[in-house]
Amino acid sequence: MKASSPILPLMKWLRPREAAMARLLGQFVRVESPSYNKAAVDRFGRIVATEWRRRGATVTLLRQRERGDHVRAEWNPRGRAARGQILVLGHLDTVYDLGTLTRTPFRLSEGRAFGPGTFDMKGGLVIALFAIDALAGTDQVPQQRIVFLWTSDEEIGSGTSRAVIEREAQRSDATLVLEPASGLDGRVKTGRKGVGEIEIVATGRAAHAGLNPEDGINAIEEIAAQIARISRWNQPTRGITVNAGVIEGGTRTNVIPEKARLVVDVRAVRAGDMRALERKFRALHPILRGAKLQIRGGFNRPPMERKTSAALYAKARALAKEMGVTLGEAYVGGGSDGNFTAALGVPTLDGLGAVGEGAHSPDENIVARALPDRAALVAGLLATI
Ligand SMILES: [Zn+2]
Repeated sequence: MKASSPILPLMKWLRPREAAMARLLGQFVRVESPSYNKAAVDRFGRIVATEWRRRGATVTLLRQRERGDHVRAEWNPRGRAARGQILVLGHLDTVYDLGTLTRTPFRLSEGRAFGPGTFDMKGGLVIALFAIDALAGTDQVPQQRIVFLWTSDEEIGSGTSRAVIEREAQRSDATLVLEPASGLDGRVKTGRKGVGEIEIVATGRAAHAGLNPEDGINAIEEIAAQIARISRWNQPTRGITVNAGVIEGGTRTNVIPEKARLVVDVRAVRAGDMRALERKFRALHPILRGAKLQIRGGFNRPPMERKTSAALYAKARALAKEMGVTLGEAYVGGGSDGNFTAALGVPTLDGLGAVGEGAHSPDENIVARALPDRAALVAGLLATI
C-alpha cells in the first residue's frame, strides 16, 4: 500500500463521524421537499446553502419562477491556482408529498436510517458535505475547484436544471453523481438507459353506437391497433423497451369515441437505437381509414454509455480496494442527471451516494454504517482526479 494514498486518512477521519452524519441526515429529511412545491424545496435549499457557506463555499441560488431554486456551491481553496473543475451533482427534491413524514418519520433502527428521501438522495447531500469536511480535516486540497450543483427538479425530469447542468459539465473534467448506489453492496452506476416519453393522440369521428355506427371512426380502436404495432418494437436483449403506460379515451358506452390518448415509456441502451425508435414513432400512420394521429415527445434523457464511466470507475475501485472494500458496478434502466453529462462526453460516475434500499417507497432507508466510507470514497476521488 502506498504511503501517499489519500484514502486511509480520510477513512480514519470519517469513521468516527457516523453519528454526526446520521444526525445531519435527520435534519435534512425533516424538511420535506416535494418537487412540485417550490416553497418547500426553497426552504430545504436554504438549509443546504447554509451548510455550504459554513464550509467556506461560495453559494449562488439560481432562482426559478415555478420550481425550487437550484443551489450552486463552489468550493475552491486554491483560488486562482486551481486547475480545472470537477462537478458534483445531486438534487434537493424528493417524490414525497408534504405530510409523508408524519406517516413515516425519520428514525434510526438496527443500523438503518429510515425516512422519505434518506436514500434518494438526502444521504448523498450529507456525504458531499462530510467529504469536504474530511478533505479540510486531513489537509488534502484538490487540484481543481469543485462545483456542487444541487438541483430542484430531478425527480420530474430536470426541466429547469438541464441547461445549468450541461453548462457546468462542459467546464468540468469530470462529473460525480451522488444518486443512490445500486444494491446493499453499494455498486456504483456505470451505465444508464436513455429514457423518454411519447404521447400519441388519435382522433376519429363520434357517432351513435346504435343508430349510425357506420359514420363513426373509433379512436380507441385506433390506439389499440397502434399498441399492438409498437409493442413489437420491444427488444429486451438489445435493451430497448416500449411500455404503453397510460391510456385514456371515450365518453359513454353508446358513443363511438372521437378521442383516445396513449402515453408510452421508451428506453434504450444505445444512442443510435434511441434515435431510430424516435423516428419509428414519428413515422406512425393511422390504421383505421379516416383516423388521425398526433405524435409528441421523445427521449428526454440520452443513454449514459459505459465508456464515459470506465476510467473513473477504475479509479474509484482502486480507492475502495485500499479501504478493504470491493466496489462493484451496475447498469440500470432508470435515468438521472448523469445521463446529460455523459452524453456530452464528460467522464461521469453515478451512484456514488448512499447505500440503502426502498427508493420512492414508504420503506426508504439507508445503511448508516456505510455513510463514512462513501464520503471517504467521494473525497478520495476529489483529491485524485
Ligand atoms: Zn435521485
